[in-house]
Amino acid sequence: MVDVLVCGLGPVGQLLALLLGDQGVRVLAIDRADDVYPLPRAAVVDDEVLRILQAVGLDGAVLADAQVQAGASVVTEDGRAVEVLAASVGRLGHPPLVSINQPAMERTLLRALADRPTVEIRRGVELETIDRRADRVDVHVRPTSGGRGERLSARYLIGCDGGGSAVRARLQVPFVGRTAPQRWIVVDALVDRPLARVPHPHFVGRAARPTVTLPMSPGRHRWEWMLHPGEDPAPFLEPAAVRAALDEWLDGETVEVERAVVYTFHTRTAATWRRGRVLLAGDAAHVMPPFAGQGFSSGARDAANLSWKLAAVLGGAPEALLDSYETERRPHVEAMQRTANLMGGIVQATTPWVVRARDAWLHAIDGTRVQRFLAANVKPLPTYGAGAFSHPPHRLPPRRAVGTLFPQTGRLDDRLPRGWVAVTTDAVAASLFEEAGVAVADPGADGAWLHDRALTFALLRPDRFVFAAGRVADVGQAVAALRGVSAT
Ligand SMILES: Cc1cc2nc3c(=O)[nH]c(=O)nc-3n(C[C@H](O)[C@H](O)[C@H](O)COP(=O)(O)OP(=O)(O)OC[C@H]3O[C@@H](n4cnc5c(N)ncnc54)[C@H](O)[C@@H]3O)c2cc1C
Repeated sequence: MVDVLVCGLGPVGQLLALLLGDQGVRVLAIDRADDVYPLPRAAVVDDEVLRILQAVGLDGAVLADAQVQAGASVVTEDGRAVEVLAASVGRLGHPPLVSINQPAMERTLLRALADRPTVEIRRGVELETIDRRADRVDVHVRPTSGGRGERLSARYLIGCDGGGSAVRARLQVPFVGRTAPQRWIVVDALVDRPLARVPHPHFVGRAARPTVTLPMSPGRHRWEWMLHPGEDPAPFLEPAAVRAALDEWLDGETVEVERAVVYTFHTRTAATWRRGRVLLAGDAAHVMPPFAGQGFSSGARDAANLSWKLAAVLGGAPEALLDSYETERRPHVEAMQRTANLMGGIVQATTPWVVRARDAWLHAIDGTRVQRFLAANVKPLPTYGAGAFSHPPHRLPPRRAVGTLFPQTGRLDDRLPRGWVAVTTDAVAASLFEEAGVAVADPGADGAWLHDRALTFALLRPDRFVFAAGRVADVGQAVAALRGVSAT
């Protein structure tokens, strides 16, 4: 029997297996597909994902095949581009908007998985049934090539099997939400150089044909066109029509269309993310339209959040720790879904007065402090309002210390030991933590974050969220709270 059976080796299952493997957890990861899904899906990842990839030593490898984006703009009906996302490197130490090629990123993750001795991968097997027992989960799988099925047992099963999750279906967990009435044509193309007219993602708010166009990883570009409700996609998918539609965006660049497909976007969340020893992560737990580029990014956060909790519970920590996974992640995912739908609503507007009002507002704020503020704050902050923390985080996200992702302006995480760590420059606080058996590190430049909040220390969880923070007198309380969620 393994510790964790990961069902589904898409990017979320891969990342979860890597993070668990790094903590010595025995993992069996299965997928019904023989290889990675070959076509590009996710276009961008953010700084939080790159920090998670840094934790498994892969941010450099992923960035080597990526393009850093300077920001994103909405183009109004008259062709004026207004920046709605400013993407300068901020408090997490990585660029906030980076174009990737999902299949290439997945291959990078899979290569790394081959080096994790506690992780075994089996492809070409499909999960059929789940039998939940008090002390384990039994799963019946069958080779996709046919033949006899077999039983696999694990202490925990994680469904990372995508939007159509078989794990979620077997648990009879409803996938609650809605399906958008509009469909979108997505065209991916190989390009000989970056497009001069589209240096970064553009949300083109043309009422006649809302369009999104963005650079992907080096040598690739994507276009997305909205189909009006009820519109037949067939004429738009004709190769000649696709090619003609690209022309207005080209300035002498050479383009080779890789694929043109129709997507329907959903905003859905599993009614519960945990049934006993079975949990859901990634698209199996939540899906959203791609307008904020947060589908995989949200799943990557799930993996980072869940992996250390699973490792802790397998090591003897209270099982209730696993409930904090959904408590923390669900509101954050729902905030991302709102952001994605807000961006979608802006570009998908077709009612004339709504388009006029949108454009008038964008023109009015363009170049003002309001625009700069919105562009810097459009994305929900990496903070949680409740969960596995020493005490409830402040109810206003910008005011939180406990519950927020600790900054790393340089590569702080590379200097921190794996697992729990107290960051402080105070000798007394440091010795109190060390006496209690908690690792201590100097936060370097990120000590400014403590100083600005008049804090002496921050006790960081393995996923680098602040579990407790305070002055020397608060160390004892922080250590006692840590005992409540850890094995010792
Ligand atoms: C057009 C488009 C644009 C997107 N843009 C972005 C973006 O810019 N940024 C972003 O972050 N995200 C984006 N996404 C979303 C992103 O691609 C997904 O969120 C991501 O792929 C989800 O990863 P996952 O591992 O949860 O699921 P998946 O990638 O779907 O992987 C699930 C795996 O489970 C396996 N599986 C399924 N059922 C079984 C079974 N019964 N037994 C065994 N194995 C099984 C499948 O073979 C598959 O390998 C976009 C998606 C689309 C379609």
